[in-house]
Amino acid sequence: MIRYNSYRSYLRKRFGTPVLKIPLNAGFSCPNRDGTISKEGCSFCDNRSFSPVALAGGAVLDQLACAIKKDRGRHAAFIAYLQPFTNTYASVKRLSELYEPLLAVPGVVGLAVGTRPDCLPADVCDYLSDVAKRTYLSVEIGLQSANDKTLSVNRRGHDTAAFVDAVNTLHAKNIETVAHVMIGLPPDTTNDAVPTARLLASLPVSGVKIHQLMVIEGTLVHQWYQEGKITPLTIEQYTDVLCNFLARLRPDQLIHRIMADSNAKNGLVAPLWSGEKMKSLQKIHEAMEMRGLRQGSNYKS
Ligand code: SF4
Repeated sequence: MIRYNSYRSYLRKRFGTPVLKIPLNAGFSCPNRDGTISKEGCSFCDNRSFSPVALAGGAVLDQLACAIKKDRGRHAAFIAYLQPFTNTYASVKRLSELYEPLLAVPGVVGLAVGTRPDCLPADVCDYLSDVAKRTYLSVEIGLQSANDKTLSVNRRGHDTAAFVDAVNTLHAKNIETVAHVMIGLPPDTTNDAVPTARLLASLPVSGVKIHQLMVIEGTLVHQWYQEGKITPLTIEQYTDVLCNFLARLRPDQLIHRIMADSNAKNGLVAPLWSGEKMKSLQKIHEAMEMRGLRQGSNYKS
């Protein structure tokens, strides 16, 4: 039995039917790659490893139609998920031209938008607030770690305060937020996940998406790995940290994901257990069961 508050179950209850979240690539860039903040990107950035559609081309509406067709009627409800890069990094005009047609597709019950905490200016937040009044909206914001030194070493280009501001601003407008967290980012020690969990538990963050640091070919993290500067977590180490992390979150927070997966074709170098998703998930679930841990079991308000 799953010992955390699964987002998938939440969606099923909320919409009365299983919901398929469909990743889409709207062709956005990112200020941490286009030179606005930096041209180098985050140390781990390779969207192939974050999103199955990072290399997808074509209009988002076509991508959505194709995914719905591929589903062959298994689902009656869909969330259009603008996943790779920074999907609020444009004018309100461009955002509405992209978002609105997606919301008009039959069966689409909502929108999920992945972004950075520093890409939510006031006019974009006002527009998102308008969207949230009309449909289900979830804004996914990258934090990765609540340790500012870790954010700086990994070239995130923002600090923890920017994330806190973004969450509070969106919450004040009744917009649901999801935090992305990466366990094992250097120089975080395994203990650093605890303050990150505590911070998230103290904020009006509705959901949390957790994944392990993966070494993807060609990234700065890959260079560190080749130089022997980092050692990726084993599945046992990751499970330990994850169990502590989940236990410190609030029991009501929705868990979107507890590990990421990739493969050699998408540049995965290490840890290789990232390529064995089902087996690794089973190990994590068994470990939680054996320890008697549940999401929120060590939460202190
Ligand atoms: S914010 Fe996302 S897209 Fe931008 S550089 Fe970092 S990981 Fe890459």
